[in-house]
Amino acid sequence: MIDQRFQTAKGILDRLEAYHHKAYFVGGAIRDLLLDRTTGDIDIATSASPQQVQQLFDKVIPVGIEHGTVVVRFEGESFEVTTFRVEGAYSDYRHPDHVHFVDQIEEDLARRDFTINAIAMDKAGDLVDPFSGQRDLNQQMIRTVGDPEQRFSEDPLRMLRALRFSSQLGFTLEPNTYAALKENIEWIEKIAIERITTELEKMFAGTYSGYAMKMFVKANVAEYVPLLAKSNRLLKFLEVLDRPLHSLTEVIAAFSVIEPSISNEQWAKQWKLSNQTKNHAKQLSDAIQQCDKTGLDKWLVYQLDKHLHASLVRITQILSRKQTINLENIKMLYQQLPIHTRQDLAINGHDLISLFPKRNKGPWMKQLLREIEYQVVVGNVNNTKQAIGEWVKKWNPPETN
Ligand code: ATP
Ligand code: MG
Repeated sequence: MIDQRFQTAKGILDRLEAYHHKAYFVGGAIRDLLLDRTTGDIDIATSASPQQVQQLFDKVIPVGIEHGTVVVRFEGESFEVTTFRVEGAYSDYRHPDHVHFVDQIEEDLARRDFTINAIAMDKAGDLVDPFSGQRDLNQQMIRTVGDPEQRFSEDPLRMLRALRFSSQLGFTLEPNTYAALKENIEWIEKIAIERITTELEKMFAGTYSGYAMKMFVKANVAEYVPLLAKSNRLLKFLEVLDRPLHSLTEVIAAFSVIEPSISNEQWAKQWKLSNQTKNHAKQLSDAIQQCDKTGLDKWLVYQLDKHLHASLVRITQILSRKQTINLENIKMLYQQLPIHTRQDLAINGHDLISLFPKRNKGPWMKQLLREIEYQVVVGNVNNTKQAIGEWVKKWNPPETN
């Protein structure tokens, strides 16, 4: 079924064609359309140069103009429009050294990675499919366009993309494609780690990650990904992993629990993770360990970011922890919490000073606030100024010196 976004994007094709340019829908959107799968972005390929595209539309953002790509804002939506092109070598393993604009869609399709990603569709719905992408969609196969070894040597990231598409779609790797991947997997060492982790994240999150993970281990990919091969326990885990982990946060949290000798900081440094991913992964792995010791309790739920609740459930299930946790339990505990952040406490630093006017300010205040926070969260002390004040009097701040 052609969805509304295709209808909108068709307006872009109409305008390009009205000015005698060729234009097609292309890439992942067509693959997903033919698979009746929800599509991500709708990409457009055209014979018009980026400058010509800029002239034809009011709002054009030159996101990658040197590679022929602009984003066209059209009827409130964004579409990538890329000029038909062929690519030179990728000597920085990130971008092709030069691109060369061409006039035929077939040439543009030939530079694409897999046959299933190299199908174009015109506005009437007719397909251009010179590499039998439809056959491979039917046979559920990932096959490179052209010789796999050559295509992987041009851009080794394609080897990881093969695994991630296999994980997302449940497709097998065509035997020659798999053989070339296994044979040359060390080429991925040259790729920027950010590009690697982007593909790995999608691979772990795929619906059919179990199959992709087995190939990942069999083809020895882990050896060329920083830190992974350092741990046999991790390799064993990957081999039997048969459920998706939805984000790098979940992946790193699971890894940290399975292989405690590799720290969160090491993962963050070697995989160049954002601080947010690093901190969330730490929260999650701490929560899992605490769950193992004490089970789910209010203090644990309080400390964990709300949006990590589902992740905690998923990981504890995947790691088959003794404590089974379900989302309802966490939600219930969360709703019962008397406070949800420290700002919700009925008392603050200033109040502490007025309660202990003779004491110097110092680290004891932070420690005391943390203790109050705990007592309130677990329900030992009511969250009122009076109740906290009474409880605090039993506490002995250090003497002034
Ligand atoms: P997704 O739904 O995950 O975005 P996609 O197929 O759209 O999948 P993108 O990474 O967005 O994947 O790339 C868009 C298209 O560009 C691909 O379908 C493919 O035709 C082409 N492509 C992307 N990366 C490469 C690459 N490294 N080598 C060759 N072609 C590529
Ligand atoms: Mg895409």
